Amino acid sequence: MENNIILKNIKLNKFTTCRTGGVAKYFTQIDNVDDLVNVLNLTKKEGLKVFVLGGGSNILINDTGFDGLVIKVLNKRLKIQKLDNGYFEINAGAGWNLNNLITKLQDESISCIEDLFGIPGTIGGSVRGNCGVGYFEIKDVVNNVYNIDWLKFNEYNFEIKKYNQNECGFGYRESIFKRKANVIWEVNLIGRQMDSSIIKEKVKNTMDKRLKSQPYEFPNFGSTFKNVKLEEFDPKIWNEENLLVVNSQNVKQVPAGWLIDQCGLKGFSINGAKISEKHANFIINFDKAKSLDIFNLISFVKEKVLEKFGVYLELEVQLIGF
Ligand SMILES: Cc1cc2nc3c(=O)[nH]c(=O)nc-3n(C[C@H](O)[C@H](O)[C@H](O)COP(=O)(O)OP(=O)(O)OC[C@H]3O[C@@H](n4cnc5c(N)ncnc54)[C@H](O)[C@@H]3O)c2cc1C
Repeated sequence: MENNIILKNIKLNKFTTCRTGGVAKYFTQIDNVDDLVNVLNLTKKEGLKVFVLGGGSNILINDTGFDGLVIKVLNKRLKIQKLDNGYFEINAGAGWNLNNLITKLQDESISCIEDLFGIPGTIGGSVRGNCGVGYFEIKDVVNNVYNIDWLKFNEYNFEIKKYNQNECGFGYRESIFKRKANVIWEVNLIGRQMDSSIIKEKVKNTMDKRLKSQPYEFPNFGSTFKNVKLEEFDPKIWNEENLLVVNSQNVKQVPAGWLIDQCGLKGFSINGAKISEKHANFIINFDKAKSLDIFNLISFVKEKVLEKFGVYLELEVQLIGF
């Protein structure tokens, strides 16, 4: 495939926070719509598979790599507008790293997504997975998503479709964008005025909590599994008396990390991949793990939790090429 912004044979482990993953046959970083249209046209002509990459913080890419084009979204547009009702509309490109955007908004005295500080993802990836922390999910501040559906896409009929909040189908780590071949290009968030020193304090407290409870000292991809709804357990055996139950967005859930810990798996490892001792829902790459080691560890954990609790753990992390 000939195009001067497309690179060949790029190692993907440099682009994932767990530092594993094979080689992409083609790779490009896109920061403007013209280039995006150009490469999407090329992939259509050549019949190439496409994978859209954000911060690489919630994916496990097979060691065999990706036999298509990886598009890393770098759109960093930012427009902030004060609305008549006193709130702010923040139009942010999908390529913004969450921490950088939070810091930028803090400088402008705008409170918006600071509860997500410390998550090494982009706005695009975070909206797709409705990233959150229990009491707060990004959907709480999303007004619109500008999205390109590339299966419908052709060079004569190019559309960036605007979705309002209700059309996004947000749920626990869910959105309709998970069920589409698409590129989230921009997002409108709603913020409100707040003293920057208060936001700074919130950011500090959030990060302090994360550093205490999550293994930031090792490469990882965040939570491996989703929490399990209480209703999925056999009520004759399991109930609120013998399970740890948390309330997240008004849904009773059992934390996946607690289930894994109850199976005695903290510290369990396969080659260089280990269940973190700090947080059992995190798998750390502590010694040159391959994606296959992590994948095998995931399978092992699922089996053990099914054996003990009779429930299936659903993956939060996205598997690519398995
Ligand atoms: C230390 C650590 C802590 C974490 N803590 C949390 C947490 O508290 N809560 C939480 O929810 N998550 C957490 N995560 C997981 C992860 O950071 C988030 O889910 C994040 O939102 C993923 O964004 P990303 O840009 O890295 O997506 P990626 O990992 O790059 O991609 C994830 C998926 O989104 C798709 N995608 C990415 N960008 C786009 C786009 N522009 N358009 C369309 N599709 C796209 C990809 O194709 C892929 O399927 C954590 C991760 C780490 C490493």
